Amino acid sequence: DPQLNRQYTFENFVEGDCNRLARSAGYAVAAKPGGTSFNPLMIYGGVGLGKTHLAQAIGNEIKRSLPDKLVLYVSCEKFTQQFVDALKHNNINDFVNFYQAIDVLIMDDVHNFAGKEKTQDFFFHIFNHLHQSGKQLIITSDKAPKDLAGLEERLLSRFKWGLSADLQIPDLETRMAILKNKTYQDGIELGDDVIEYVAHNIDNNVRELEGAMVSLLAQSTLNRKEIDLNLAKQMLKNFVKNSSKEISMEYIQNLVCEYFEVPIDMVKSPTRKREIVQARQISMYLAKAHTKSSLKSIGHFFGGRDHSTVIYACQTVEDLIDTDKKFKGYVADIQKKLKMS
Ligand code: ADP
Ligand code: MG
Repeated sequence: DPQLNRQYTFENFVEGDCNRLARSAGYAVAAKPGGTSFNPLMIYGGVGLGKTHLAQAIGNEIKRSLPDKLVLYVSCEKFTQQFVDALKHNNINDFVNFYQAIDVLIMDDVHNFAGKEKTQDFFFHIFNHLHQSGKQLIITSDKAPKDLAGLEERLLSRFKWGLSADLQIPDLETRMAILKNKTYQDGIELGDDVIEYVAHNIDNNVRELEGAMVSLLAQSTLNRKEIDLNLAKQMLKNFVKNSSKEISMEYIQNLVCEYFEVPIDMVKSPTRKREIVQARQISMYLAKAHTKSSLKSIGHFFGGRDHSTVIYACQTVEDLIDTDKKFKGYVADIQKKLKMS
């Protein structure tokens, strides 16, 4: 199963107050897929808090104890891509049959369905089919179902059928346990003072915690120094500095096009199709807000347009943000993704 990563197990998913409910619900689902009231099981929480790890742990556990079950892990982005390809190549039927045959479907990051109405629609039908056949659905998202903007109401109402459990930022003790677990797995020895120092200073999410450890190791190797408290302090200085990197126009363009399911090269083309114009205008608006590029270079980048077109685009976007709630939600969503990069 190439989609499941064997590293993500229950054994190395450290338990804490921050994840106890989600973890035990996951365990129950793994023991009896489709046979509990936790269907769908919805796991939600911020970036790097362990959604993918836990969802995959459930899949891996089912593969281990019930090897006949067909388990599929797919990210919302990949599903969208598959759907778009199936439409393009006219094999929607194969696509449907494939998904309807699955016993356990793990759909990661459903907040990325926002703005993708066709794909959502399609997923809605697959969801219904699987649920009615007693198959297990596991869904992850960055927000609780009630707070998910840009998703259709009927899909959201399905998400609320089962159990929603959140993952929170681990407390200091759990962060230390996670670091210890990680060093143990990698066969590294770290002093308790170093572990405590890192856990104390990195309190955003688990991914950053792991990232800090990786750079600690890298510095120790590069400088041929022992990992001690001094090195940890040194590392942390650089670590914080590096995490605010610059955003490029190209990156904005890719993000916006992916969000609205429009081909990237169309944004630079002369087309006046409504959805393309919207993607182009939002891209320009975000480029002005988040890069240091001049109006002239923004216009040039997005298909050789002049600076007045950029001003007009920004004005249009600002007006729509004020008057159109749905539109405002789209822009806020994309902006959030930009900030996470
Ligand atoms: P998300 O999908 O919520 O963004 P991930 O599942 O990718 O987060 O987790 C980020 C990293 O943190 C992964 O390497 C994962 O193994 C690790 N991680 C998260 N929570 C835990 C935990 N409770 N115990 C051990 N590792 C964890
Ligand atoms: Mg994830």
